[in-house]
Amino acid sequence: MRRLFRTLARLFVLLVALAAGLAAFWFGVIPQRVSPFSPLTLDAPDQWFIDPKLAALRRDPVLCQATLKTPHIEAVAVPDVPIERGCGSVNAVEMSSVGGARLPANRITCEMAAALALWLEHDVQPLAVAAFGKRVKSVQQMGTYSCRNIVGNVLWKDFRSQHATANAIDIAGFTLEDGRQISVLRNWPKSGAESRFLRDVHGRACRYFRVVLGPEFNASHKDHFHFDRGFLWTCK
Ligand SMILES: [Zn+2]
Repeated sequence: MRRLFRTLARLFVLLVALAAGLAAFWFGVIPQRVSPFSPLTLDAPDQWFIDPKLAALRRDPVLCQATLKTPHIEAVAVPDVPIERGCGSVNAVEMSSVGGARLPANRITCEMAAALALWLEHDVQPLAVAAFGKRVKSVQQMGTYSCRNIVGNVLWKDFRSQHATANAIDIAGFTLEDGRQISVLRNWPKSGAESRFLRDVHGRACRYFRVVLGPEFNASHKDHFHFDRGFLWTCK
């Protein structure tokens, strides 16, 4: 009996240690210098352990500067806004272009900017060339930083949105080199190449962002994709 108790106690300690280790990576508290993973690079389309590599950027402005580089992204660090009542930003950048497309944002976390660079450069651009023979020239966004709660969901309405910490972006559409517009609102519900492209890029976003929501999720998202790198994980 005592032996069984001891075995169970050891198993419990092991599980707690494992959960604590996973949580440490999940919340980006393992500094890169002691991480078992190599630093993230924006050059490579396929990297193992991409989520903890992105999370390692969260609290590390030096690593952020070393990672966010041209030609993958044009972005400059902005001063932190101390988090008060769930709003503010830490280690954020002002971005003008990313993945070869114009995408201005006044304030977005480094971690989100890196995820956008990987998604646009290694997924969105090749998919646009394959579908239309043209690259994406610009991306239309509907917001990054906004001190507000989650909208469109009764269960979560009292919780701060990831937008409140600049850790999210809402994407409304894309403009190709030839001027063709591809809009989530107009093209998602139809059939055809534009709709397929939107569904493909939405699906690929789940590699880099923890929360990916689109028109299928609820009516609040009929005109945009919401991407964030918060603590939840879903792809709808
Ligand atoms: Zn959003």
